Amino acid sequence: MDKIEHIGIAVKDLEKSNKLFASLFGVPHYKIEEVASEGVKTSFFKTGPNKIELLESTKPDSPIAKFIEKKGEGIHHIAFAVKDIVSEIERLKGEGFTILNEVPKKGADNKLVAFLHPKTTNGVLIELCQEIE
Ligand code: ZN
Repeated sequence: MDKIEHIGIAVKDLEKSNKLFASLFGVPHYKIEEVASEGVKTSFFKTGPNKIELLESTKPDSPIAKFIEKKGEGIHHIAFAVKDIVSEIERLKGEGFTILNEVPKKGADNKLVAFLHPKTTNGVLIELCQEIE
């Protein structure tokens, strides 16, 4: 795994949170993207070398809606950049981690993504992401 690519934060109201994080960081979000297959609308901020993703649910049974129902708003996942997501998934499976989607899927921000089950990572949802060339 390489560097932290971004940190994902689950929010109830993207428009409100875009304003909140813009005043927190001193810069506005630089894009909004909906991933219909995941039932999520995302926005992205850059703070220095760091990237923050806000996630709002667009349907009641989406993973983000369920997360907020259970835990409330807050940090949802940590995403790590990988060069070869397929071989990284194989390596992590070999180490005993549970991968939520063994076939990488198209995520926001032009990435192929896969998630590790938080039950096998001390409660932290880990996202692997590989830039689509
Ligand atoms: Zn993410």
